[in-house]
Parts: sequence; C-alpha cells; structure tokens
Amino acid sequence: MPMIREEDFGTEASGAPSDDYCTHCYQGGAYTWPGASIDEMAAFGGAILSRMYEIPPERATAFVREQLSCLKRWAGREVAACGSCGMPLARDEDAGTEADGSRSAEYCVYCYRDGAFTEPDLTREEAVRKYAPMMAADLEMPLEGAEEMVRQHLSTLPRWRE
Ligand SMILES: [Zn+2]
Repeated sequence: MPMIREEDFGTEASGAPSDDYCTHCYQGGAYTWPGASIDEMAAFGGAILSRMYEIPPERATAFVREQLSCLKRWAGREVAACGSCGMPLARDEDAGTEADGSRSAEYCVYCYRDGAFTEPDLTREEAVRKYAPMMAADLEMPLEGAEEMVRQHLSTLPRWRE
C-alpha cells in the first residue's frame, strides 16, 4: 500500500508510526495477520486496490502479488527498486550501468546507462504521462486512475521526491 497520509501508516508497539508497514498490515508493533500467505495478502490488497482504482479484481490481485514478491517480508531479502521508475532490481541484468561499466545499485537498465539517465530532461509529469497508459492497459483500468497511481508512486522515488 502507498503510505501518504498519516492514517496510512501502521503503528509500532510505542504507538509511533511504522516506517516500513501500512495500517492494514501492522498495528501495535505486530503484523495484523501473522499467518497470512502471500496469496492471501495479495487477495486482501487486491480487493482494496480494485475498489480504489476500478481495476478488475483478478488483475488487481495479480498486480499486488507481483509487488509483494519483491518486499522484504516475502522475498526474504531487501530487493532494491529503481529510483526513477520503481522497477524492482531483482536480477543483475535489471540494473543500469555506471560510467565504468559496473552495475548501478539505484537505477534500472531502462532509466540509467553509462552513468547517466537515458532521458535526463524527463520531468515527473512527463514520466506520469509516459508510464500511466502502460499501467492502464496492463491493469485494464481508467487512465485517470492510472495517472494518479503512477504520480503517487513516483513521488516516493528518489529521482522525483521533492
Ligand atoms: Zn527505472
């Protein structure tokens, strides 16, 4: 779940907001649903997403499952995501390249090559307009909803954060 507003954040045992988990997953320092499998979580998250953004339930669930599979709780390790487009850097070949040819730890191969952004002048709004139609087609959802989702997601990434 994106965590934007104060009420989106889960809570630690102290009552402080959690840095890592949302209010649906984490309350008072513990998972709300400790025995959940990734498929149960995907169905749960998918139902919320489906209602919020008018996405067919099975598409929403598949999307959430894909996202979950990259999260620490489910992947068993921290999978880095591209700081420009959010793509998970799950495999070596997903990572962009630095000027010396080494792999970037921060950006994907589509956004970053030879130590520079492939589209250095891209603005956040241009990125929204570029990614949203792909997302709308992929999730069979209205374009306006996809733009909102992409805009919200990009605003959490290092390249676009203000
Ligand atoms: Zn990227």
